[in-house]
Order: sequence, then C-alpha cells, then structure tokens
Amino acid sequence: MSLAAQSLTALRRQLTAGEISARDIVEDSIAQISARDGDIGAFLSHDPESALAEAEKADLTLPLGGLPIGIKDNINVLGQPCTCGSKFLQGAYTSPYDATVITKLRAAGAIPFGRANLDEFAMGSSTENSALQITQNPAAPGHIPGGSSGGSAAAVAAQLIPATLGSDTGGSIRQPASHCGVVGLKPSYGRVSRYGLVAFGSSLDQIGPLTQNVEDAALLLNAISGEDPRDSTSLDASVPDFTEGLDAGVTGMKLGLPKEYFTDGIDAGVRERVETAAKKLESQGAEIVEISLPHTEYAIATYYIIAPAEASSNLSRFDGVRYGNRTENPADMLELYQNSREAGFGSEVKRRIILGTYVLSSGYYDAYYRQAQKVRTLIRQDFEKAFEKVDAIITPVAPEPAPKIGAAAGDPLKHYLADIFTISANLAGNCGISVPLEPLNGLPVGLQILGPQLGEQTILKVGRAVEG
Ligand code: GLN
Repeated sequence: MSLAAQSLTALRRQLTAGEISARDIVEDSIAQISARDGDIGAFLSHDPESALAEAEKADLTLPLGGLPIGIKDNINVLGQPCTCGSKFLQGAYTSPYDATVITKLRAAGAIPFGRANLDEFAMGSSTENSALQITQNPAAPGHIPGGSSGGSAAAVAAQLIPATLGSDTGGSIRQPASHCGVVGLKPSYGRVSRYGLVAFGSSLDQIGPLTQNVEDAALLLNAISGEDPRDSTSLDASVPDFTEGLDAGVTGMKLGLPKEYFTDGIDAGVRERVETAAKKLESQGAEIVEISLPHTEYAIATYYIIAPAEASSNLSRFDGVRYGNRTENPADMLELYQNSREAGFGSEVKRRIILGTYVLSSGYYDAYYRQAQKVRTLIRQDFEKAFEKVDAIITPVAPEPAPKIGAAAGDPLKHYLADIFTISANLAGNCGISVPLEPLNGLPVGLQILGPQLGEQTILKVGRAVEG
C-alpha cells in the first residue's frame, strides 16, 4: 500500500519505529498527486518544495510529526495562495499569515500540504460551484464528491494524502465525507478557532478533519482544538485527549433516531443502511429511542436566511481594493467596486449576496432575519431537549448518494433542500461526524452522529463502534 493511502495512526507507528521518513510520505503524496490528480481534481495547487523542506526538519516526537495534511483553499497558510475557489482571488492573494489551525498543526509537527478545491467561498454542496475546476468523486467518477469541502474529501478518498482539513457551515465536511466514503467531523461551534478561515457565515463556520478513520479524526481534533485569543467565539473549554477511550463501546448509551429525519424524500437504500447501523449499535449494547426535533421543517429556510445574511456582510471586503482582482480602467470608485465584483464572483455567490442583502435591508429585516433568528433558537432548543434524553443522535447525512455531476445544474433549490440533515447542527452549534456505511450500488453512504455542544468524545466513540 502506498504511504499516502495509509492512516495517520499507521504512518505514525512506522515513523517512530524509524521504518520510514517524513520525506518518504511527502514524496509519495507528491507522486500520487502528479500521477492521478489530473483526473480527480482534488487539489487546486500544491507546493512540493516547501513541503519537502518541512519534511526534512520534521520533529517525529510530536503527535503529528512529519505527517502531511491537505488544506481546504479557504484556510490561510503563510506564503500559499488562498483562492476560495474564486476567480476573484485567483492570482490576486498570497496568505500573509497562518490560520490558528495551521499554527496548531505545525506545533503538533504536521506539514500543511496542498490547497484543496471547494465550492466558491464554500457556498454549495457539490464543488461544482468552484470557479476554478471540477472535482470528481474518486469512489464513483462522473459523480459529485459533495461539497463544499469536495477537494478535501476527494483527496483522502483517492488516497492522495492521508488526511485533510475542511470547513463546515451547513454540512460541508460531513456531506462530502459521506459522498466520498471517508470520515468527516464538524466540531462544536467554538471548539476550533476560526481565525484565518475566510468567513462565510461567521456564526455557523467551523474547521474540522476529513480522514480515513475515526481514530485519525480524533488525532487531528486533538491538534486543532482550543481557545484562541484571536477568535472571540472560540470556547474556553478544556481539550481532552479525543483518542482516549475511543474503544469504550456504546453499552448503556441512549441513541436517538429523530422521526422528522425519516420522511418520504429519503432514498430507500440510504434509509435502510442507517437503520441497519442503528441495529448494529443496539446489538452492541446501545438503546435506540425515537426522538422528535419538531422544528426540522424550518431549518432550510432559516439557514438560507442567516447564512446569506452573514455572507453578504463578510464578502463586502472583496471589492478589488482591499482584496481581489481589480477591474481595469474604471470611470470612478463606484464602477471600480461594481465591475470588480461583477467579474470576480460566480453566480451562486452573487445569489447569496443578493439574498443576504435583501433579508438585512430595512423593512425586511424584521420579517426575515429577525424571524430566522427566533426560529434558530427553537431549533437549538429542540436539540437541548433531545440531549436531555439521549447521548447522541443518529441520522442520514444526505437524502441520497452522490448524484451525477451536472444533475442539478441551474437548480439551486435542489441543492439547498439536500442540506436538510446537516444544517441544523450548525444552527444549534452542535458537533457531528459522518462515518462510512455499506456503499449503495458502488456509491458511498455515511451515517451522521450528532452530539451536544462539546460532545465530541461521545460521537467519536459511537463512530468507532459503527466502523469497528
Ligand atoms: N451546502 C451548504 C451551503 O451551500 C453548506 C455549505 C458549507 O457548509 N460551507 O451553504
């Protein structure tokens, strides 16, 4: 098996035993990318020289010493491009600093390597909204890899690199993990610093790992978690060793199946696999109980008001002056802004900016934005009540396996509706993980395990039990 195809944990063992070097792993990753990524399109760019230089001085005594980690192209890495999958930033921006997660990865000995493709500014669920390239699903070429962290998921699924980081505002780690057949974890809001992540919906965004297995996800979460003075929304909470007690099992745990998540819109094969996983957990000693999350039906409308509202504000910094490619020969300042934004943003980003500006405008603020904030509270309370009764909640990640590339072209609503099972966790600030189940006609299917705020240890344990 090639080195890039192995788990972080397996590589660590070989590194510390002196059987391989950090350079061997990075060299293998470079070779895999050059041999196969032309067909997959997981990475937008990568910088072999700096990764090899870092491999030379890697401290193998550190928890992630010498391990290359792919980075979604909306997370700043000093000296690297950060395009966000947008023409606006392509060739126009080099990161002048490391995001906190990158500083933390480096402190743990890891080597940030490669810039993974994404839907433009992380808006989408198929990676088709990337203005720069298409990414194929390695498990099923011709199908979407999911999104918006499609490049991060595809890179791990195609075994180009052992693990990656993605970001999740409404499902963008869990859904591509599910579609590509890898593990993807969205930490609780505030668990991981957002400093240096290009903001989409600041009250929803979280950075998290995409890995080959649950143990690797725990290992990466160890490295990136923790309070950060540079992100006032990061939580002052102790960071446990997430790899500890992973194999403790689910005996005595109560796991909820939300009745609102098993409606007609869900593919029969996906439903069957989730039910089979529930039975497996039951046979391992968990108690499965039906629960209700009564405001689920409002989650999509709520998310598609709040996320665009925050995006419209966050994306105002891309104006061709502070950030982004600037239009040539504008007649005046206004034309400079207008023409730069017109040429720089793709249609989905423009749609979100228009939607967001509308719901925040005077006269509509109360009817849409304020109302959405109130419903958001109800959704959060649904989860709080549910977690009084159960330790974790199990659900599908997406209503169906990965569709074909282009299948929903020009139909944004279809994409929005497919986010139904993932967005509530972001609205509520909960943590969630997607763990692979049995594929359906060759297409990967994931199980979503949702936990309460700071309940990562629980969902990792359940994930490990599903996987084992
Ligand atoms: N699919 C959702 C959206 O388009 C979620 C994206 C994300 O989590 N970044 O907004």
